[in-house]
Amino acid sequence: MNTAELPTLFAPLPQRISRLYELAYNLWWSWHPEAQALYQAIDPTLWERTGHNPVRFLREVALASLEAKAGDPVYLAQYDKVLIEYDLYMRNEQTWFARQHPEHTNDTIAYFSAEFGLHESLPIYSGGLGILSGDHCKEASDMGLPFIGVGFLYPQGYFRQFINKDGVQEALYERLNFAELPAVIMRDASGAELRISVDLPGRTIFVKVWRFQIGRIPLYLMDTDVDENAPEDRELSARLYGGDQSLRIAQEMVLGIGGVRVLRALNINPATWHMNEGHSAFLGLELLRERVQRGQSLDHAIAEVRKHAVFTTHTPVPAGNDAFPLDLMDRFFHQFWPQLGIDRDTFMNLALQQQSWGPTFSMTVLAIRLSEYRNGVSELHGAVARQMWNFLWPDKPVEEVPIGHVTNGIHTFSWLAPTMGAMYDSVLGPGWRENLDDPATWERIASLPDEVLWSVHSGLKEQLARFVRERAWQRQRRLGYHRDEAISGDINPKALLVGFARRFATYKRATLLFRDLPRLKRILNNPERPVQFIFAGKAHPADEPGKSFIREVYNLARDPELVGKIFFIEEYDINVGRNMVQGVDVWLNNPRRPLEASGTSGEKAALNGIPNLSVLDGWWREGYDGQNGWAIGREAPYDDLEAQDREDAESLYARLENEVIPTFYNRAADGIPHEWVAIMKHAIQTLAPEYSFRRMLKEYVEKYYVPAMEA
Ligand SMILES: *Cc1c(COP(=O)(O)O)cnc(C)c1O
Repeated sequence: MNTAELPTLFAPLPQRISRLYELAYNLWWSWHPEAQALYQAIDPTLWERTGHNPVRFLREVALASLEAKAGDPVYLAQYDKVLIEYDLYMRNEQTWFARQHPEHTNDTIAYFSAEFGLHESLPIYSGGLGILSGDHCKEASDMGLPFIGVGFLYPQGYFRQFINKDGVQEALYERLNFAELPAVIMRDASGAELRISVDLPGRTIFVKVWRFQIGRIPLYLMDTDVDENAPEDRELSARLYGGDQSLRIAQEMVLGIGGVRVLRALNINPATWHMNEGHSAFLGLELLRERVQRGQSLDHAIAEVRKHAVFTTHTPVPAGNDAFPLDLMDRFFHQFWPQLGIDRDTFMNLALQQQSWGPTFSMTVLAIRLSEYRNGVSELHGAVARQMWNFLWPDKPVEEVPIGHVTNGIHTFSWLAPTMGAMYDSVLGPGWRENLDDPATWERIASLPDEVLWSVHSGLKEQLARFVRERAWQRQRRLGYHRDEAISGDINPKALLVGFARRFATYKRATLLFRDLPRLKRILNNPERPVQFIFAGKAHPADEPGKSFIREVYNLARDPELVGKIFFIEEYDINVGRNMVQGVDVWLNNPRRPLEASGTSGEKAALNGIPNLSVLDGWWREGYDGQNGWAIGREAPYDDLEAQDREDAESLYARLENEVIPTFYNRAADGIPHEWVAIMKHAIQTLAPEYSFRRMLKEYVEKYYVPAMEA
């Protein structure tokens, strides 16, 4: 991006370090800790207070602090090093994609998603789906894909979570100040703010567009808060997953239809369209409309649109798939189907799904019908999806339903602890960062001395303990120094620490651990081998059962026999997640199989040498090899959910008692648990390459993106 385009809301920076400004406007910094350190070093307190947000930091930092650094040779050496690295990155023309597919470097892949989880300072994500989209952009940049993202810049984002003294989750929506974000407003040729429009019942809604730079790739985020819109329409994009069905359908119309119009207005004509989950499936309707308006028959248009479309489904929970009642579709689309040259029934039939409560227009069905390339996000989820959507191919046996899978991975450099990264630099040798998805790269982990890995890990655990203590203090200040043992108390860095952090959707069974309380208390309170658990997670504000799980965990954490053994951190976000997946000893995941489509938090833990203790669902069913962590429960289908919970809880306790705890406390004379460290190393070796986003994105490119370009 040209610096001249950037907003000029800043006081001028000292010339010698003036590129801090340019760097702040490229989220490249979000996966380069050494770039973040350039800001942090100027004023560490302000860096924390501004939420690790370089743009906001530069707006608030004192000129004197900047000037001091501009004359500090140690700082300047760091600064020069980071900028050289940044320039090399941005100017590299020999990226993986350019080498692999030189004939396609001018074809564009457009990736649509309702949420993007890029950094804690940009709270426009709710959970795994958003984190995946954010990681997708970052890896696409690293690999040099001709890629752009499309979504929403929700002014109020997703909520901040507080837990009150009774354990009740409170949701706080704060208005983001876009001037404090690395956002650049898009303008048209005349220099006016770009506007595109979408027709809603009885009015036209206007949209403006912000660009974020993610390394080499742009992310275009839409925003309906413009003067031309009626007050309620200005709020249309205010929040992620807020509101009722009619707000939801309007948002999805803007995402899908508006998103295509944004790209056309910017003169971007993608060769591959990727719908990440059904939220954006209306984009297919807009692509059909364009073709029909140009004179193509609908059938021909459908065939053409499909050839260039990729659809990834993410949820095996039927209620998680958006489906709109037909009367709502009538209201929102009665002007649209005539533009496709068809009648109401033909239109509805594009995506009809019979539900127990009647016929609906299903976004997943629409996306499936309008894409040639379809996938679930793990092997098991692929199989579940083929079953779920078999009714669309009534003449095919389930195994021939054309839905494949690509197992999710994580963007390595967003989740790797810097101290672990430095250790990998020294043991894996130069070039590992280029070849991180190659298992051979990781063989040398075997030669890593146990004490080195153990000491780096112990340092990260102490860092997590400090983080938890600081959060506890913040909470106490907020509650007027009311000492709240459930969310305070100190982590004992010597004791085994198990982490659990994810959305509090009920299928994730956050309370499974508490099924047999007397047994749990015996486990935690063994004086020779104490155990601690740390929890974090948000429930959707409308999810009452999810919120009651939070209350239950919180109240149990105050049980006199569990105080100081069970911790809950408020406000699960990328920052909390990062600290947890880098600092606990074991990562716990116990969803109700097979409802965890993939899961990725355990992959982040494994990358940092932290073994998983998890149900054989999603990615872990593929990743577990008997020696790189532990399995909970059996690979069996259950009709009786109560029996499933009972058996999985029994298995969880037994694994803890008989394997996890004894292995962790089996110390040699040097104090190091060598058998445990062997599991850590094996987890890194077997899981870091395979569950990297690099492996994953190569699969998307070869199986879907390039074939769709060539169609
Ligand atoms: C990784 C991550 C998730 C996804 O975790 P799951 O394994 O799918 O439960 C959700 N939220 C945040 C903040 C994350 O970092």
